[in-house]
Amino acid sequence: MANRSTDTRHEIALRSALHRKGYRFRKHTVITLSECRVRPDIVFPGHRVAVFVDGCYWHGCPQHGGRPTSNRDYWRWKIAHNVERDARVNHNLTVAGWHVIRIWEHTPTSDAVIQITAALSGHSRITA
Ligand SMILES: [Zn+2]
Repeated sequence: MANRSTDTRHEIALRSALHRKGYRFRKHTVITLSECRVRPDIVFPGHRVAVFVDGCYWHGCPQHGGRPTSNRDYWRWKIAHNVERDARVNHNLTVAGWHVIRIWEHTPTSDAVIQITAALSGHSRITA
């Protein structure tokens, strides 16, 4: 089973909502940091804002995190590993001057747009 499915329905809805608002962004762009390479779901390079849409199950959402019925130890380990990696990615991006937004897949699109809009207005565009 894939760890992160690209272009989930939620992600597509979020991207088209942002697009309708006139925001321009890149999807699945690789950001190379000194420690690692990361691939956020939505990237606003000029604002240095990186958005991840996290699946509730795989990323251990407090409301819908994995409660598997079989292979319990394996899945628990796997989800814990993802959560740990997410925290490391957040840290590395933040240190590199990025603003990281993590959105659960259960978050309504309109709420996600509000979060992203707020972050973009707080990080004024960098003109290189
Ligand atoms: Zn959830």
